[in-house]
Amino acid sequence: MSQHPFSQLALKPELLRNLESLEYAQMTPIQQDSLPVILQGRDLIAQGKTGSGKTAAFGIGLLQQLDNTSFQVQSLVLCPTRELADQVAQELRRLARQIPNVKVLTLCGGMPLGPQIGSLEHGAHIVVGTPGRIEEHLRKGTLRLNRLQTLVLDEADRMLEMGFQEAVDAIVATTPAERQTLLFSATFPKEIAAIAGRILRDPVRVEVEAVH
Ligand code: ADP
Ligand code: MG
Repeated sequence: MSQHPFSQLALKPELLRNLESLEYAQMTPIQQDSLPVILQGRDLIAQGKTGSGKTAAFGIGLLQQLDNTSFQVQSLVLCPTRELADQVAQELRRLARQIPNVKVLTLCGGMPLGPQIGSLEHGAHIVVGTPGRIEEHLRKGTLRLNRLQTLVLDEADRMLEMGFQEAVDAIVATTPAERQTLLFSATFPKEIAAIAGRILRDPVRVEVEAVH
């Protein structure tokens, strides 16, 4: 088997050390194909099955590019459900363990607004949430995405199936045009092609069949 250690990427030493402590020795195929593209700052469409390691693919990219001296929201990860958002946030926190002061905040529907607003007042680097609740915070002015660097659409096919297209478009409209956009999906129906055409800029497309 060919070797694809994370150490072949130019990552922050604390990120590499942490991957080692998590026993992530080798990149999964989707990580091999997408991380170099993400680290170049390009837009990406990545298609891969459940369990292929998509969270760490974008998570490592977000953490490598993170500026923890600023407390503006730099990255937003949109997920179809609260359960998925919680899983993504948990994985991001594990990946960030050895990088000081990284704040990951989840904002999902079905949870009270008050504590979310309180947390937003303290600032966050990475927000993970469901489209409806993120849009609600944007409308209220309790969340601003004018300094966003990277937008991630995770499980984009499921988000569209759940009727989040309008909310996603409304969210995208509040972000800087020069942002990086990363779209992850298990399938690639024409609705995904359409949304990708609207919100991604000259994306690289990677597709990985099976789990490593
Ligand atoms: P997906 O989003 O593609 O369904 P996940 O990102 O949830 O997959 O990853 C599936 C599992 O694989 C998680 O438990 C994660 O911690 C683990 N994982 C991800 N990347 C690696 C890696 N390079 N080496 C070992 N385990 C990994
Ligand atoms: Mg996933």
